[in-house]
Amino acid sequence: MEKALFLLLFFVFGCIIGSFLNVVIYRIPRGKSIKKPAFSFCPECGQKIKWYDNIPLLSYILLRGRCRHCRKKISLRYPFIEFLTGLASVGAFLKTGLSYDYIFIFGFLSVMIAITFIDIDFRIIPDEINLTGFVMGVLYAALKSDLIESIAGAAVGAGFLWGIAYLYLRLRGIEVLGMVDVKMMAFVGAYTGWFGALFTIFVGSFLGAVVGILGAYISKSEEKGKFEIPFGPFLSFASVIYIFFGESIKNWYLGGMM
Ligand SMILES: [Zn+2]
Repeated sequence: MEKALFLLLFFVFGCIIGSFLNVVIYRIPRGKSIKKPAFSFCPECGQKIKWYDNIPLLSYILLRGRCRHCRKKISLRYPFIEFLTGLASVGAFLKTGLSYDYIFIFGFLSVMIAITFIDIDFRIIPDEINLTGFVMGVLYAALKSDLIESIAGAAVGAGFLWGIAYLYLRLRGIEVLGMVDVKMMAFVGAYTGWFGALFTIFVGSFLGAVVGILGAYISKSEEKGKFEIPFGPFLSFASVIYIFFGESIKNWYLGGMM
């Protein structure tokens, strides 16, 4: 019973952070401040949203997904991101229990949610978001006396991906990925160490390739070759798998060698 209460508490806290992530995802790529104004606007009519209409998940349900002022539909994505962040918070709590690890693991998941949706919308990953993640990763490693592993992870993650991009550009003249993905891998590597960074790149590339091929196949033939997908969400997904199951994956993979 007590555990159920904790899970609910962490879920609600996650939903509140998810509501903040909605602001981050909307404002940062548009070059707007996340601090000012402190209240939210309806993206349709620009009307200020009152606090009681801005309660994560609940307001969406009570208002039946419409703005109180203009009655236009509110995207289902807002409550979805709140719900997803609530689940991420519960997942982080189940992994770490009541310890400072929770802050860093949930922080990682929150940054990944922001990166995924901004990259889907704008095909960019803002530097300040990668930098926030990187600083959190280094700080977390410092608290665990794991600083060298963290720096090595950042170097391997960014360096390896940069190397692939460089080779493609030199050998085939194709720009396969942007510097944003390289910066993102410095952030991921700072959290996961070198093995996790390589895992994220390989699994992320594999998933991206599968979805890319399927997407090109499904989309109309004249558009073939033009089908482009952002890489960030796949790296993000792979890194989250590693954050949760990394220790087992690493032991299983390296177990035979050592
Ligand atoms: Zn409105």
